[in-house]
Amino acid sequence: VVVNTCGFIEAARRETIEEVLDLAQLKPRLKGLVLTGCLVARSAAELEETLPEVDAFVDFAAYPRIAEIVHDVAEGRAAGPVHGDPGRRFDPAWWDASIAASPRLRLGRAPWSYLKIAEGCDRGCTFCAIPLMRGKLRSRSLDDIETEARALAELGVSELSLVSQDSVMWGRDSGEGTLVTVIRRLEGIDGLRRVRLMYLHPQGVTDELVDVILGSSMVASYFDLSLQHVTAGVLRRMGRWGDRERFERMLGRIRARAPRAGIRSTFILGFPGEGDEDAAEVERFVADNELDWVGVFTYSREEGTRAFGLAGAVPDAVARERAEAVDGAAQLTMARRASAFVGSTLDDVLVERFDPGGDAWVSRSEREAPEIDGHVRLGARGAVGVGDYVDVAVTGSEGADLVGEIAPSRGEARARRRSS
Ligand code: SF4
Repeated sequence: VVVNTCGFIEAARRETIEEVLDLAQLKPRLKGLVLTGCLVARSAAELEETLPEVDAFVDFAAYPRIAEIVHDVAEGRAAGPVHGDPGRRFDPAWWDASIAASPRLRLGRAPWSYLKIAEGCDRGCTFCAIPLMRGKLRSRSLDDIETEARALAELGVSELSLVSQDSVMWGRDSGEGTLVTVIRRLEGIDGLRRVRLMYLHPQGVTDELVDVILGSSMVASYFDLSLQHVTAGVLRRMGRWGDRERFERMLGRIRARAPRAGIRSTFILGFPGEGDEDAAEVERFVADNELDWVGVFTYSREEGTRAFGLAGAVPDAVARERAEAVDGAAQLTMARRASAFVGSTLDDVLVERFDPGGDAWVSRSEREAPEIDGHVRLGARGAVGVGDYVDVAVTGSEGADLVGEIAPSRGEARARRRSS
């Protein structure tokens, strides 16, 4: 078993360790347990001490050799548990080498896939440890991205989620263009039906980008905007752009053109110096705006970040209380937003899997990103299968999720085409 770990906040580290301890229970039946990813890069020495169950820790620097290392572990001949150079700053050469050495393989048969378009980040938000682990922005070449997208499409992937740390910055380092250039390159790839852009820093969401996203028949009308906070004081201390007014102008522009577009955001509560009124403003913002998906987190004080030494620490209990209040508002907003779809028809809903327990197909329209957002649940009736796109009449909502049936007219026409 290979566990790709996350190490950017305390909660993620805890989750990783719990997962590894659970997997360790299966150890007698496993050929080996291998850890990769950011947590290894950040704390391999500590992990080696606390998790003796792990056979190998593979740092980024050793990724080009990962197949060999896993094979050695499986054969019982691993040479020492730590591979690579953990603790060192991320070197872009490691990423280039691992991409060159490891053409994309797919695990599973989902009709969608992630596609990484860049690595690293130049922004330097004061709370964020990601640049410490992933280094400066490094855009993948257009040719590389297109080659991988084509290969995935040939393997049956019809929906791609483009990921990076900061997608709107794609091309700044390489000079190959902008995110729009990537979109144009992917349009027209046979078999690709939907491309979703993830991690759009709000500062880079220009009018032009909004127009391109909403005007493209292939790009999902979906905006993954990590706003993180809404008051100018807290945002400046976070080293981030924007304020409530700017954000609302942007949301208004999107909603005016595409009232049904999916909008996601995350917020951090309890950042140093945040007052009760700052937190209340986040709560009001969430209550007043029609966000489809909201993630709420408490601030995690990370060693090595610029915010680590900031004065004005907010006690954990207060941060949790503020986050709970914002989350309460978010749950109501998301449910209200979902209920507004009841009675309408959603186009191009991708059938992802059958849930035998719920006796329903689990599917997603363009407003739901895989893994992080909700679903559209479809009654078992109807001749559909994994990977199909159907039109759905929304009959109800359950919290932020939607419930529906294949729309009779368009859905049946497709079902007839399938069976012929
Ligand atoms: S833009 Fe995102 S990845 Fe980059 S420093 Fe800020 S929070 Fe971290």
